Amino acid sequence: MEVLVNMERCLGCRSCELACAVAHSESKTLLGALGEDIKPLKRIFVHQVGEKKIPLNCRHCQEAPCIDACITGAMHRTPEGVVTNEGGAAPCNGCWMCVMVCPYGVIRSRAAGRVAVKCDRGCLDVNGIPACVRACPTKALEFTVADDFSRRRRQQYLQTVL
Ligand code: SF4
Repeated sequence: MEVLVNMERCLGCRSCELACAVAHSESKTLLGALGEDIKPLKRIFVHQVGEKKIPLNCRHCQEAPCIDACITGAMHRTPEGVVTNEGGAAPCNGCWMCVMVCPYGVIRSRAAGRVAVKCDRGCLDVNGIPACVRACPTKALEFTVADDFSRRRRQQYLQTVL
């Protein structure tokens, strides 16, 4: 399952960014997160491009350049298919190789401690849904498989031409 984006539905409200950060806080609550000494970091980024709002997030690529570039072995793929630098063969040493090779620019730094930070799917609820997807009011974000997403795209397209 992947977080895939219906870009035409994004309002740019940034609810996904907020939910992502809160889900990665100690307290897991908005009020608690605001008071934490080490501010939790979002791992999804909503950008304005012209008139459009575009959420960018980790695609957990099959051929993940961040895994190949990681010099310590920290960046790895879990049995569930999640690409993460947490719980790998060695700790992340903050060399930023993964930051430099990620084509989407969705790996960032935690300044305190020189550690790369990225989507780790550490935000799933009891139904296995990521926090960003739960928070999106327009369903711009979907947690789905690529073929289901493309099937819905085809149906949407056909509705416009028939
Ligand atoms: S929550 Fe949904 S609509 Fe709001 S910025 Fe994120 S993707 Fe866009």
